[in-house]
Amino acid sequence: MNKLFKVASRIISKLEEEGYEGYFVGGSVRDFLLNRPINDVDITTDALPDDIERIFDKTIDVGKEHGTIVVLIDQDPFEVTTYRVEGDYSNYRRPDQVFFTNKLSDDLSRRDFTINAMAMSKDMKVFDPFDGQVDLKNRVIRTVGKAEARFGEDALRMLRAVRFMSQLDFQLSEDVISSIEENGKLLQHIASERSFVELDKLYRGKNPQVAKSVIDKTNLLHYLPFFSHVSHENFLSSKVSNLADELILQIYLKSDLHDYLHELKPSNKLKAYINNSLSLIETLDTDIDSRIIAYRFERTVLEGVTEINRTNQILTQSSSHTLSDALDKKESLIIKDRSELAINGKDLMDALGIAGGPWLKEALNLIEIAVLTEEVNNNKTDIINWVKKHANDQNGTI
Ligand code: ATP
Ligand code: MG
Repeated sequence: MNKLFKVASRIISKLEEEGYEGYFVGGSVRDFLLNRPINDVDITTDALPDDIERIFDKTIDVGKEHGTIVVLIDQDPFEVTTYRVEGDYSNYRRPDQVFFTNKLSDDLSRRDFTINAMAMSKDMKVFDPFDGQVDLKNRVIRTVGKAEARFGEDALRMLRAVRFMSQLDFQLSEDVISSIEENGKLLQHIASERSFVELDKLYRGKNPQVAKSVIDKTNLLHYLPFFSHVSHENFLSSKVSNLADELILQIYLKSDLHDYLHELKPSNKLKAYINNSLSLIETLDTDIDSRIIAYRFERTVLEGVTEINRTNQILTQSSSHTLSDALDKKESLIIKDRSELAINGKDLMDALGIAGGPWLKEALNLIEIAVLTEEVNNNKTDIINWVKKHANDQNGTI
């Protein structure tokens, strides 16, 4: 048995000792039956959140009103959620209310797809009231109940359908396809943070191309944050394997898309990564020494643009050489940042007998480049001599 299931089965045993039911549920059961790696094991139970908190030593309340308590076993977190059904959906997203129930089959019926609506006991017996195993075998994504109704309740499910399609390399049922065609516009009601998570998983999946072609054909593209501004052609022709790279590529192809990036509510970290990558692509165009590129850009940015170029060939041959040189030289640069320069602003003012001013910053920039490109050794005397000579060459101005 997979290690996570083994640890999680201790939670189920404990629930059973206390007179409750407990099952593995959702993604872990699906992935177990597909022989895929298991990331996290969720548990469903008839115990109420207060019972769960009472029974286990270490718990975190992550959404008690929705029935979810995290139980920590040897530091590993497991979501334990009370069987629940959902109340009305008034905004095409998340239910207004949830109700707890004591029937496993009720809980399974509120789940999105048949392949996600299976539970498994700790001795690996599978509960599959919606024939999820048949759909796993036929490699089909089908909703529990009518797609039209389920997408009307929560429009995010349409995007989840195409992301599972990519992750598992499955087909969509006819019903799912036609309902996406009908209901795509409801995606406008979904918080972009939720779309972001699904899109990122889609891009990292096994077959993003097939999922993207469905997004295009059903016109879902038109209702996605940021992507509604991307041309169908650029969307389909890109072959990147994560969302960040897709955003970089699309903005590179059409720079005014930068104005719509905020629609996806990217984190500051992601925004910086995107902007640095775009700036790298631009800088590579300027016939610059690869050591300066290596110095200015982080390895992740260098690698990211390398990957975008590998799959989509956006750089000229010479830019692409500079980039691969920069990666090769990244670890053997003479200095890694300015604090490693053998000279600082004060040394320079003292040596030259000139008071500080805008020249100082300019001079340090030039010194930095000269040291990096091995035009001068990184020691104080050599640098000062180099600066004096350089100043003479430039008629006394630095
Ligand atoms: P992953 O491996 O990507 O985590 P997962 O199936 O575990 O896939 P989650 O988003 O973690 O997906 O959701 C856990 C389970 O909760 C799903 O398997 C499904 O049963 C149910 N679920 C999640 N989101 C929805 C939704 N929007 N509507 C109905 N059921 C959902
Ligand atoms: Mg999950």
